[in-house]
Amino acid sequence: MSDPKELYQQVILEHNKKPRNFGKLEPCSHHAHGLNPLCGDDIELTLVVENDRITDIKFSGHGCAISQASSSLMTVNVKGKSVAEAEIIAAQFREMIRGDLDPSKDQNALGKLSLFQGVKDLPSRVKCAVLPWATLQSAVKGEVITSTE
Ligand code: ZN
Repeated sequence: MSDPKELYQQVILEHNKKPRNFGKLEPCSHHAHGLNPLCGDDIELTLVVENDRITDIKFSGHGCAISQASSSLMTVNVKGKSVAEAEIIAAQFREMIRGDLDPSKDQNALGKLSLFQGVKDLPSRVKCAVLPWATLQSAVKGEVITSTE
């Protein structure tokens, strides 16, 4: 068994090197632009939502390894889910990063995303990890620009 920190590093590096669902959907039904000026992360999400289900999602843009890996994992986790399910995961992810949810004790739908738990001890990276989730929440609400500031 590898320890969680090592696994976290591996997942971040792997998703940063080979991001999943990278690109733009045209046409799309929802989109939002997410900015984290603190770090310079800049992502754009495009989604196709049909009957309240996210049938497709892609992200593009640039930023640090954590924001790119978090974006990649976010798209993998919400693709095919209903908007309501995706919103629950987004809320739980933010609670975990704030330290209000412990994925090993509290019931949650985070699965592999619980690897990001360690980010709560790195205050300067919290916004990087949360950015794609905040942007997703904006996109499904019809807001076009999100800033972590
Ligand atoms: Zn960043």
